[in-house]
Amino acid sequence: MMEIKLKLEKLDCMDTKKERPFLVSGPCSAESEKQVIETAVELARHGVQVYRAGIWKPRTRPDSFEGRGTVALPWLRRVKEETGMLTTTEVANILHVKMALDAGIDILWIGARTTANPFAVQEIADAIRGSNIPVFIKNPINPDIGLWIGAIERINKAGIKKIIAIHRGFSTFQETKFRNTPHWEIPIELKRRIPELPLINDPSHICGRRDLLQDVSQKAMDLDFDGLFIESHIDPDKALSDSNQQITPEALGELINSLVIRKPEINGNGLNDILESLRVEIDGFDKSLIDILQNRMEISEQIGRFKKSKNVTILQTKRWSEIVDDRIKTGAAKGLSQNFIMKIYTAIHEESINWQNAVMRSNGKSKK
Ligand code: PEP
Ligand code: MN
Repeated sequence: MMEIKLKLEKLDCMDTKKERPFLVSGPCSAESEKQVIETAVELARHGVQVYRAGIWKPRTRPDSFEGRGTVALPWLRRVKEETGMLTTTEVANILHVKMALDAGIDILWIGARTTANPFAVQEIADAIRGSNIPVFIKNPINPDIGLWIGAIERINKAGIKKIIAIHRGFSTFQETKFRNTPHWEIPIELKRRIPELPLINDPSHICGRRDLLQDVSQKAMDLDFDGLFIESHIDPDKALSDSNQQITPEALGELINSLVIRKPEINGNGLNDILESLRVEIDGFDKSLIDILQNRMEISEQIGRFKKSKNVTILQTKRWSEIVDDRIKTGAAKGLSQNFIMKIYTAIHEESINWQNAVMRSNGKSKK
């Protein structure tokens, strides 16, 4: 794995004590001066630190509302002057960057479709070189952590130190209850690889609908995300884009107040000892799991050797289907979900095929 070298600094308005999440909110799109200002005044009352509004909107299909464009830039300046909130808008090319910088936008944001395109990210990086402007970087639309990290590196190499990653979920072909599948393992892995990078969650674009926002926001808090990026509109049902997922500033206030904010670390009163002894148990189980997996692979290898001597294929679909059905049933009886068992067995089966393959290709007794 290539080493990731970044020079990062925290955004001044981000509270590291985290009694509340860092909040970025505002409408999907800036539609009119009235809508922008009315929404902003309400959001400022609910403690939002950064006001978001799309001015140039990347829409999936043509003929949708594509944002008001440059006429909306002075509306955001008014938001800053009248409420004190910082402002952010999406930029996707050099022209957007120039206009946003000239208009005094405080933070730029790179959208999911743009993060997926290294040419576009590089164009933005070159355009902001030397400007010291903070940048929010959404995950790419496809579940590819490399593209996300690549975009972060390109912006950082242009001298931008204040970078915040935004997790907004990933596109899939399948219909699910979410508009964009969260794939929580991807932002968790991003945190593991770049622990000093602030990470916030965008429940609006993950959910695509209001009734799921609370759950996803709470989950992000429980996974120790630093903040939330949520769409809010003074009159969501009339919004010109993403109407189903936007909430009123009042509903946003309720959502934030109902979040349970837990501490990332436990201090005092022997609580650490309890946690420590439970972790020792987990470590023990993990060691046994790995030993068991190794034993299982060695049996697979023996099977491979046998199949080779009898000249039969590695994969016997019938046997594999039987394993899946049986393990799902056994897992269900122990409270383990079908999805989890499927994922584990798919991985085990793949590894087992690799071990058998190594035997098939070897000319003798040698191991993998
Ligand atoms: C948005 O935040 O309004 C937006 C277009 O987001 P994304 O790039 O995540 O689709
Ligand atoms: Mn939107």
